[in-house]
Amino acid sequence: MLAEKKETLNKMNGVDRNMIGLETRAEILRWLKEDDPEAIRRLLSTADRVRALHVGDQVHFRGLIELSNLCRRACSYCGIRAPNRGVIRYRLTREEILAAADTAREMGFGTVTLQSGEDPALNLHELCETIRLIKQHTRLAVTLSIGERSRNELARLRDAGADRYLLRFETSNSDLYNAIHPPIPGQINHDRFDVLRWLDELGYEIGSGIMVGIPGETYDDLARDLELFRELNLDMIGLGPYIPHPETPMGRCMKDLDPPPDQTPNSLEMTLKVLAITRLICPDVNLPSTTALETLTPDNGYENGLACGANVIMPNLTPVKYRALYEIYPGKAGQTRMASELMRRMIDNLRTMGRKPAIGPGKSTHYLLRHAADGKGVETNGIEIDESIEP
Ligand code: SAH
Repeated sequence: MLAEKKETLNKMNGVDRNMIGLETRAEILRWLKEDDPEAIRRLLSTADRVRALHVGDQVHFRGLIELSNLCRRACSYCGIRAPNRGVIRYRLTREEILAAADTAREMGFGTVTLQSGEDPALNLHELCETIRLIKQHTRLAVTLSIGERSRNELARLRDAGADRYLLRFETSNSDLYNAIHPPIPGQINHDRFDVLRWLDELGYEIGSGIMVGIPGETYDDLARDLELFRELNLDMIGLGPYIPHPETPMGRCMKDLDPPPDQTPNSLEMTLKVLAITRLICPDVNLPSTTALETLTPDNGYENGLACGANVIMPNLTPVKYRALYEIYPGKAGQTRMASELMRRMIDNLRTMGRKPAIGPGKSTHYLLRHAADGKGVETNGIEIDESIEP
């Protein structure tokens, strides 16, 4: 039944994709460089239509809890990198995490996303216990976004009840990646693609993604990123504009330089195009309208993303006193605003957009379908797809 629906939807998506044309790298590249406003409008609205067909009108809310801003890494783009001595470091207590998870439940969210720097002293046993408690006391799905971990650690977290994992590959250009995400001296450097493979083997819903417009990224790199989304068979894809942080090497060095001719912009328009292309290439994934997008255009950034393919929002539930300290980039949206205020705005605006908040954990349709295809049994994610749809 689900498989038949998938076939119908794929045919329809094929029609949409052929209209837009995204089969080859050259076609993707052409769309990334498209500057005719009418053509761009058509791209974004087609992505919106494909989103409605494949994952419905529901918008999933994930409560974001930023566990810790301690980090052993020196990523040249990120404000909480270890060498940034100006950052006051914090780590939430178990009680603070459980209280935030409780707020997510009270607000009707189906998922909490626990994110952190690569905290060197993060106690895995403690985190596993916290995940167990969240799962015992709530029906929330738990997503982790805590950087690169060993296969053994990921297996223990999965056993404790973690459902999903987000690890962006940031860019498909490996030279650029290695330059902006240096390995830790004296430690085995696992490729992020190895980690994504382990996550799949362990049965996680897997999320990855990129920053758009990293200095040094070319249009060809970005087109390759988009092809890779398809090849990696991802369930969730997170992407947002790169936002320079003045206390980072990348934020400092790019300030006064003219960008090279083939540099991708970190603009709103480019990010929306990449979101739309992602939805067309990977029609049944969960795709957040990210905080970085909201940061570019406060007060309607989330809506901009939702209108061209996105179906997830992640309101910040980190205790307010720590929020400004998780400054991966400056001006990050949601640092002072309460999640309840954002929800009031979203509920009103969703209604205007013909959308509605989802109920339940909001598993990725892509994950459900690939596990049904594996013969591992079919679950539902509470999404109703209109039965009357004909190809
Ligand atoms: N330590 C975890 C979580 C990092 S924060 C990890 O590395 O996976 C989550 C994401 O924020 C990163 O993957 C990166 O894509 C994004 N990010 C970090 N710095 C940023 C910046 N300056 N501008 C935009 N996005 C940024």
